[in-house]
Amino acid sequence: MSTLTGKLLRINLNDYSSMKEEIPRRHITRFISARGVGAKYLYDELAPSADPLSAENKLLLLVGALGGTGLQGFSKWMVMSKSPSTGTIFRSVTGGNFGVWMKHAGYDLIIVEGKAVAPTYIHIDPDGVHFMDAADLWGLDYRQLQAQLKENHGDHTESACIGPAGEKLVRYAVIHSGERTASRGGMGTVMGSKNLKAVSINVPIKKPTPFDPATFKELIETQVGILKEHPRKQTMTTLGTPYITKIVNMMGILPTKNYQEGSFATIEDLSGDQFFELKKARAGCYACMTRCGGMREVAYGPFRGTQIDGPEYETIFAFGPLVGLSDRQFVVDANALCDAFGIDTISTGVCIAFACELFARGIISSADANGLELAWGNKEAIFSLIEQIGNREGFGRLLGEGVKKAAEQIGGGALALAMHIKGLELPGYEPRGVKGYALSMATSNIGGSHMYGRPREEFSGQADPLVETGKGELIARVQKEQAIEDSLIACTFGNTGLDTAMYARLLYAATGIEDFGNAANLLKIGERIVCIERCFNVREGFGRNDDTLPERMRKEPLKQAGPATDQVVGNLEHMLDEYYQALGYTAEGIPGIDRLQALDLPEAVEDIKTYTAPGASESPGRSGQP
Ligand code: SF4
Repeated sequence: MSTLTGKLLRINLNDYSSMKEEIPRRHITRFISARGVGAKYLYDELAPSADPLSAENKLLLLVGALGGTGLQGFSKWMVMSKSPSTGTIFRSVTGGNFGVWMKHAGYDLIIVEGKAVAPTYIHIDPDGVHFMDAADLWGLDYRQLQAQLKENHGDHTESACIGPAGEKLVRYAVIHSGERTASRGGMGTVMGSKNLKAVSINVPIKKPTPFDPATFKELIETQVGILKEHPRKQTMTTLGTPYITKIVNMMGILPTKNYQEGSFATIEDLSGDQFFELKKARAGCYACMTRCGGMREVAYGPFRGTQIDGPEYETIFAFGPLVGLSDRQFVVDANALCDAFGIDTISTGVCIAFACELFARGIISSADANGLELAWGNKEAIFSLIEQIGNREGFGRLLGEGVKKAAEQIGGGALALAMHIKGLELPGYEPRGVKGYALSMATSNIGGSHMYGRPREEFSGQADPLVETGKGELIARVQKEQAIEDSLIACTFGNTGLDTAMYARLLYAATGIEDFGNAANLLKIGERIVCIERCFNVREGFGRNDDTLPERMRKEPLKQAGPATDQVVGNLEHMLDEYYQALGYTAEGIPGIDRLQALDLPEAVEDIKTYTAPGASESPGRSGQP
């Protein structure tokens, strides 16, 4: 018995077929589940240079080894694919119940291939896999869609679905699961490109059975005991991620006015306490006693008068200081509007802040922006621009391509104002004030993400956030740890008090796989996952030149940033050398053959030899940077 089903469902939309397959045991022992196993399948099955929005790309839905077990904060799920934002391998994590329903249906992984000829949705029930006409569902927002799916297939139905922006191929469309979203990297765009509106499941509950039920139960009790006492859990339960706002402002790393400044004068208006005042009810994911979410009432747009689960910190920064505002209700309403279209709030906010700075510097005029006066803090113009992006019309059509592609098209001074790494819009942490975090974002195999390796030491005082030297090893370690957490899937906010040793005990009791019971081996698996993702990107032409930061972060001293004022990331090259050395990469950022062999990655050895041979041509996947 094991909490892993060991099975995947392969769905081909070209011929509307489906097939159940065993996941090879060697995939599991080397990569565990979720992000690890997903990276392995994408590496093996996706041809280099495949267009992310073509039928050739694959969409992977994954649940972790510990999902659906009753362990607290381990039942999120993730989407993986080649990203239309970055051209790299990508993973995006979300909550909701869908992942657990996958497990009830008997799958750790669903692979969607090909492209349907017409709008389609897939429904899974005890009778099998059904391909359904989605013509009547096309255009619905996630709430209308989820309600319709429940009407069609019963109240017990859970789904992964896209909104109108995913259908229209806005490049940073999300996938919804209940009130939660797999937000980043355009996973909803990939789904839309396949003419796939939703995957829904209604099957009887079938909880996974651990290999050693008694020990597993004891470990859950231990975890619950830790959580009950832990102050971080209490803070998350009461305030949720909005509590971060004041901390980052104090550190001078709150991106303000398109990353020109690092703090905001009226930040008190956006504090965790202030958002607590707007909270109507608690919300959260399946089997999580932290329940960090909060329902808040919407005053504008299609969801007006209803409540949404949000906003999270990342949305607060994106529709607050980043665009020159500190209006709580505006943040809630902008969040709801993005949700109604199904677009990522971070990328949307960064694209709009980019447009505001272009406008402030006279690079674009209101005539270029469909008559919008894009002054900092102009709420009406920002709402209109969200609508244009979601509808992929007007100036929003260009911004919906993402900040990198938009800047390339606008040209001139626009390129220097586009805040992205490898095409992924930057998150709510100013890199100049947290140098290790800057390195983590620069080297992330999914582009400018705050969730690829978070150096908590720079926030807790264990490491000086303004020091660059010595960060290579730290970031190599936290990226490995994140890879393990993403392969379980342990929620960053719900895994309070747990460490790699505890993961090892849990995994062994859950699966009976002896290798998982060794914490050192888990760290090796974490490194193997980061490494195979890097190998995927090397095949696409990515290398050292792409492990960088926007020029602003490297050359322009940060303004109004408290302790981080006047900081730049001055010696990224040295930090890269340290990081590559820690992971056994060459000076070009490519995994060395010796390290590939030590990590038991024979599948990558020949590829890496081919792509690094003298005279090997650069792939069109290479992203370049402003
Ligand atoms: S801590 Fe929050 S995001 Fe994490 S599993 Fe719990 S409710 Fe979901």
